[in-house]
Order: sequence, then C-alpha cells, then structure tokens
Amino acid sequence: MTAAGHDVAIIGGGVVGCALAHELTRHRIDVTLLERATEVGFGTSKANSGIIHGGHHASPTTLKGRLEWIGNQRWGDLCDELGFGFARVGELTVALSEADLPTLDHLVEQAEAKGVPGVERWDRDRVLAAEPNLTTDVVAAVHGPTTAVINPYEACFGLAEQAVHQGLVLRTDCPVLGLARNGDTWVIRTPAGPVHARYVLNAAGVFADAVATMAGVGDFTIRPRKGEEYLLDKRLAGLVHRVIYPCPTPTTKGTLVIPTYDGTIMIGPTADLVDDPDDVTTSADGADRVLAAARRLVPGISDRDVIAQFAGVRAVLDSEDFLIGPTAAPGFVNVAGIQSPGLTAAPAIAELVVDLLRAQGLELAPAAGPAPPLPRPVHFASLPTEDQRALAERDPRYRRIVCRCEFVTEGEVLDAIDRGARTLDGLKFRTRTGMGRCQGGFCTSRCMELLAHDQGAPLSAVTKRGGGSWLVLERDEVQGPGPDTGGAP
Ligand SMILES: Cc1cc2nc3c(=O)[nH]c(=O)nc-3n(C[C@H](O)[C@H](O)[C@H](O)COP(=O)(O)OP(=O)(O)OC[C@H]3O[C@@H](n4cnc5c(N)ncnc54)[C@H](O)[C@@H]3O)c2cc1C
Repeated sequence: MTAAGHDVAIIGGGVVGCALAHELTRHRIDVTLLERATEVGFGTSKANSGIIHGGHHASPTTLKGRLEWIGNQRWGDLCDELGFGFARVGELTVALSEADLPTLDHLVEQAEAKGVPGVERWDRDRVLAAEPNLTTDVVAAVHGPTTAVINPYEACFGLAEQAVHQGLVLRTDCPVLGLARNGDTWVIRTPAGPVHARYVLNAAGVFADAVATMAGVGDFTIRPRKGEEYLLDKRLAGLVHRVIYPCPTPTTKGTLVIPTYDGTIMIGPTADLVDDPDDVTTSADGADRVLAAARRLVPGISDRDVIAQFAGVRAVLDSEDFLIGPTAAPGFVNVAGIQSPGLTAAPAIAELVVDLLRAQGLELAPAAGPAPPLPRPVHFASLPTEDQRALAERDPRYRRIVCRCEFVTEGEVLDAIDRGARTLDGLKFRTRTGMGRCQGGFCTSRCMELLAHDQGAPLSAVTKRGGGSWLVLERDEVQGPGPDTGGAP
C-alpha cells in the first residue's frame, strides 16, 4: 500500500467482489476488499440455486445475456485452479403443453445466436428415457449440455483465498459507512478507521444503491426480489440427473429441480418482491408454492422429503439488467443490479471491470508470475478407501469424525479454520458439517469447541454467521477443550 492508500477498494465480498479481487490481484496493483459480514460469500452468493447457467437463457441484447455465456466458459478453468465443487451436469427445459413449444424454439434460436454449442430439442421419449422420474405430461424439452452446478460458497472462499495469497488485503466485519473524496483519493469510512483508495468498485449486492448514494451518485434503486429454496433428503439422490427447468416467464425462470454438486436435490426458488433487502425468511406459503411447482415437474417429490430451507435476495433494477460502469464520481465504478445469472457471469464481470479500470487510467501490469495455487482442501468422504486409510494413518485428526451424517473429520474442520472459517456457517460451507439429515444436531457442539479453541475465546463468543448470532449464553462460559492432540504428528 502506498501513502495514498490502495489502488482499488472493492466494497462487497460476494461472488462478484471475490471474482473482482481474484482477477485484479493477477496484476501488480494494491487491492483491498471490504465486507460487512464476518466471512465472504455470506450475502446472496451463498443463498442461490448454485447453477452455472448454460449460456442460452438470457437474451444477447442484454449485458447479463452477454456476460452469462462468457462467464459459463470461465468457471471450468477457475475450478481447475481453485478446486471447488463444480460439475457440468446439463439441463432440460421442459414443455408441459403444446403452448410451451414456441418457448423451446426460442431457446434453441437464442443458443444459436450466442454460439452456445449442443443446445437441441429432445422429444418426449428421449426426455423420459434420460430422466424417468419426470412427469409423463412432458411434451418435449430443450437439452443444454453446458449447464453446470457449483458450490457457490466454496467458489467465493476459493477466489478470496487465492486473492489473499496474491496480495489482497481482506477486511471482514468491515461495513462501509461513508465515502468522501480527498484530492485524487477516496476516503472510505469504516468502524475500524478510514481506508484510502484511488478507485472504488461498488459490488455491494442488494445494498449497491445505498453505497452509490454514499458516493453522491445514488441515481438508481435496487428492488430486492426474494427466492426461497428447499433441500431434500439425500435418499432422493439421483431422482434427476440434470437441472430441470419449466418453461420460463419474462421475470423468472420458474421453480427448478436441481441435482446439487453434493448429490442432494434442491427445489426452488420463488421470486417475490420484498421491502427489506435483509429479509431471508422462508414461509409456509413459499414452501407450498415451491413444492406444488416442483411436483408438476417431478411428481415423486413429497413435503416429507424437505430437510432444510433458505432464502436469498436478488438485487433487481427496473431495467432487469446489470449496471456496470463508471459514474459521475471520479474513480467510482458501479457493479450493481447483479441479479441472476450473476453467479454465472461473475468471472466475466470481473474481466469487464478490469478493462474498464484500464480505460479509466489504472496501470495494470501483469504480476511477475502467477502465484502457485494453494493446496486443495481435503474432502475425506469422497476419497477412495485406501486414501482415507493412508491419510488417517498419517494424521490422527482424520481418524476422528466430527459430522456423522456427512462423514467430516476433525482434520477437515481444523483445515477450514486455518483457511479462514470464523463461524459455524463458515465451517458448514467449507466442510459440510451440519448439512446432513440431523442438520447439526450431532456436530454443532464439537465445531463450536474447535472454533472457540482456535479463537482463544469462550463458547459464548462463537457465532453461527457473525454479528449477534451466538448460540450459548454467557453464564455457561467455558473454554473449548480444542483438538485432541494425543498422537498428533
Ligand atoms: C434464490 C436465488 C437463486 C439464484 N440462483 C442463481 C443461479 O442458479 N445461478 C446464477 O448465476 N445466479 C443465481 N442467482 C443470482 C446470484 O446469486 C447473484 O447474482 C450473485 O450472488 C450476486 O453476487 P454479488 O456479489 O453481487 O452479491 P452478494 O453475494 O450479495 O454480495 C454483496 C456483498 O456486499 C456486502 N455489503 C453490502 N453492503 C456493504 C457495505 N456497506 N460495506 C461492506 N460490505 C457490504 C454484503 O454483505 C455482501 O456480502 C440467484 C439468486 C437468488 C436470490
């Protein structure tokens, strides 16, 4: 950092902010990222359908439509570099009546116009042979082979971790409270003191309008649009093999049936305008609507199969498009209105913004050499038995199971803490602790002990997701016993 501060400050550590940080730190510049939550990816980026859209859903006449397909093509390389969960499972957009057929034709034409390969119409027999659990009401479908599923929070952690490795100054628990110009520099007000930067990127998701207002260029309004998602029991794994879409409407792709990267089935989302951008509540009405819509596609789904639910909020502008570009405030760039397919488009958004900054006069020499990729996190449950044995033999922490449902070892939990997990959700999203059938009933207390021990803090200081999300009362204060070091190497 120079006396004038950082070259670039990114406000918001969602997938967009993390992708920006990862792309910018490939260059010889000084970058900081300011995130109000305790960990990156805790906003909308952890609460979505986890689909890398095939590239043919959004119109090429929109910015989101252009960036959707470029982004789709980048995620495979990023996964190779960073090692998060990612699989190209493909998709079927399903017509349930003759009236839906023109929509299928439109999708195929759009794929051709955008150069998305392999998108084609399948007839009813072919659809049911590939996906026998679909409704027999299906008339035809469009198959898209480029669609993928991803663990979106793992992607955020991977991008941010590698960016930090390449020099990013990451500030979490750091809400931006105000912005002012001092000569050629922005002074960013935070509870931890001022942060100085020449360029500011506004990637604050559903709060991007508030941050733009702080910079004096608040000329747009975000309309928060909530989506509820429902996770089904793992015993339904294999119910569908591809992402199943109904035919879309102008404002929503509808309720989907999604085979997640982790092998569970997820159904959702809803699409409801809400007043509060922080409203991530789920509702009985939302569950009813999602289940009814999912059953129209896959009749075998029952409400008894639901084991967890969550909601995320899309940052929607009146234009229904992304708003990316410089503003009347010098050096202040909006990366706003990043609704769906923002996860898909994030790497393409980052490349576009790097070009914009270059055009604005920021010198962007490539870093001397690419930083070597960090070692990949171990996922014990997915290792072959011989590798599990060898690892447990070498390191006894991998002999101790913390989460029985998802078969997560103490070694993985401690590694996640070393990599930056500060909360129970941070552990859950990195290792899957608490994501199984018992939803943390067995492993929560052990995870809390390990976090408390690492932080040298009492159990009452451990939170679920930062802020005031504590789990135990102060009168029970006890220091966690920490990892069992007996026999540790
Ligand atoms: C239900 C649902 C399903 C979706 N499914 C898909 C999908 O399958 N595929 C797809 O491509 N897209 C999908 N999307 C869209 C996608 O999730 C978003 O486009 C994407 O996550 C937006 O990322 P972001 O970084 O812009 O926002 P966020 O992840 O919300 O990040 C913004 C960050 O800014 C921080 N912040 C806000 N204000 C401040 C401040 N003052 N100071 C510091 N930090 C601040 C927040 O804490 C937050 O972490 C879905 C969205 C929803 C809601």
